[in-house]
Amino acid sequence: MSRQPIITGTTRLLGVIGDPVGHSLSPLMHNAALAALGANYVYVPFAIAADHLEAALTGFEAIGVAGFNITIPHKQRIMGLLQVVTPTAQAIGAVNTVWRTEQGWQGTNTDVIGFLAPLKAQSRDWSAAQAVVLGNGGAARAVVAGCDQLGCQRIWVAGRDAEKLAQFQASWQGMPVAEKLSVLPWGELPEVLPTTDLLVNTTPVGMHPNSTETPISGDWIGRMPASAIAYDLIYTPRPTRFLQLAADHGLIALDGLEMLVQQGAAALEIWLQTAVPVEIMRQALEDHLR
Ligand code: NAP
Repeated sequence: MSRQPIITGTTRLLGVIGDPVGHSLSPLMHNAALAALGANYVYVPFAIAADHLEAALTGFEAIGVAGFNITIPHKQRIMGLLQVVTPTAQAIGAVNTVWRTEQGWQGTNTDVIGFLAPLKAQSRDWSAAQAVVLGNGGAARAVVAGCDQLGCQRIWVAGRDAEKLAQFQASWQGMPVAEKLSVLPWGELPEVLPTTDLLVNTTPVGMHPNSTETPISGDWIGRMPASAIAYDLIYTPRPTRFLQLAADHGLIALDGLEMLVQQGAAALEIWLQTAVPVEIMRQALEDHLR
């Protein structure tokens, strides 16, 4: 049973900014948690065009917004408007969570925490592991940072555009992860898949409504070791075609819902400075997606 937030004269604001923002499931998940905690906050969506971003931040300060999430297309540009950016967010090059401090706005990126949560639950030794990341966009950056934190020995990032791949590789130059990171043209994936322990789809291929699509074929997935994990960041549909094919080949299949839940829980913990009801956040999303 979902409880409605009670808005009083002292209720504080949290939210998510993006353009568009109507698709975001964050309001659902956060308001469920806030209601369960009896916390005097509401979490609302703010559709903000790119050329209004700076004005929005000034306005947020003026009206006392306590914190907010950031989604496409503002995750990179917002960094230049914040007073403090955590090293994690700097390494990824994107901020998804902002809060107000005495120094001004501070930003971090909780996607790595979210990405890692279901992998840590697998309790594996990752020290000799090879990870392959499909796609070289924004989410791939959090995934690379996550695979590095996990302790993977080798990380391959596969993309379809040679120039973007080269830029992706260059963007990590000077960071410790650069030593274990290589990029790979899409067509060469079959060469690395037989020694891959973790395959992560960060492309939108297979996302609703294109549910019959898969970023790679069952034939390629079939080249992977049976003990490997296939991880799709997509959470609609559940499972994706990619994960169905992986499960058919006996691989462990993880979808993106837990990442969404855990990045949100990590953000809410920052804002409220208290433990948050992760189970209620997960349930709110599962009920909605069902
Ligand atoms: P993005 O920045 O647009 O990156 C998408 C990447 O996918 C790009 O590298 C793009 O390649 C590649 N790509 C697209 N179509 C492809 C195709 N047909 N074949 C090969 N590569 C293709 O998007 P993003 O922000 O990283 O998000 C990617 C996906 O992750 C989305 O489905 C998003 O919903 C999901 N996601 C989930 C969570 C979660 O919490 N579960 C969090 C973040 C993102 P080009 O650059 O060559 O076009």
